Amino acid sequence: MSANQRIRGASAPCDAAFVTRWLRGCAAQIAAHRDYLTQLDAAVGDADHGVNLDRGFVAVGSVLEAADGLPPGELLVQAGSTLVLRVGGAAGPLYGTAFREAGRCLGTARTFGVAHLTEALEAALQGVTALGAAVEGDKTMVDAWLPAIRALRDQAGAALPDALHAATVAAEAGAAATTAMEARKGRASYLGPRSVGHQDPGATSTALLFLALERAAG
Ligand code: ADP
Ligand code: MG
Repeated sequence: MSANQRIRGASAPCDAAFVTRWLRGCAAQIAAHRDYLTQLDAAVGDADHGVNLDRGFVAVGSVLEAADGLPPGELLVQAGSTLVLRVGGAAGPLYGTAFREAGRCLGTARTFGVAHLTEALEAALQGVTALGAAVEGDKTMVDAWLPAIRALRDQAGAALPDALHAATVAAEAGAAATTAMEARKGRASYLGPRSVGHQDPGATSTALLFLALERAAG
């Protein structure tokens, strides 16, 4: 264990149970909003975002059943690999990479604190941008991820629930702000100016994943 890991571990409120609550919460949020996400995707894409993500997170639930005793990072890596396999479309590889990179960042740590969690989520976003090459304002999930990460950085030193609440609020505001944007990446970009006036499905699902994360800490 590195010195860094020992320091993080000293005030570590997060563990495998926390990550399990997060992933199950993601599944619950996506299931509850499946039709809404699909409707958003019907307006700017091909009407599959909610259905695809729901299929993927149901499969993540099955993986968790068999994952007893694994460290939190490994749970996230397995969840990411499952999403890559089961979601499809643009969102499968993007979210799959996000969860895998977050898991890799946590490594074999059994417990971690808000600072390490922030690093893991930064790694997730880097994975998304490395794969999808979207920048802020392109009307994608990045427009929810980036403000959430910024909020977490601003909350450095805050208690975990406060930091995650700020991240959720920022992700939700970021998702809402995509309505006014013209899509420059993904299927919605085929619509050009006609994509304006519709909230991005991926940014909306990202805000739900942050809401699930906040609830896992609460
Ligand atoms: P598909 O467009 O292949 O049907 P989904 O409907 O599951 O995939 O997901 C669409 C969402 O994926 C978009 O709303 C957007 O947020 C996100 N997305 C698409 N392309 C990119 C990209 N290059 N970078 C980041 N996010 C992207
Ligand atoms: Mg779609």
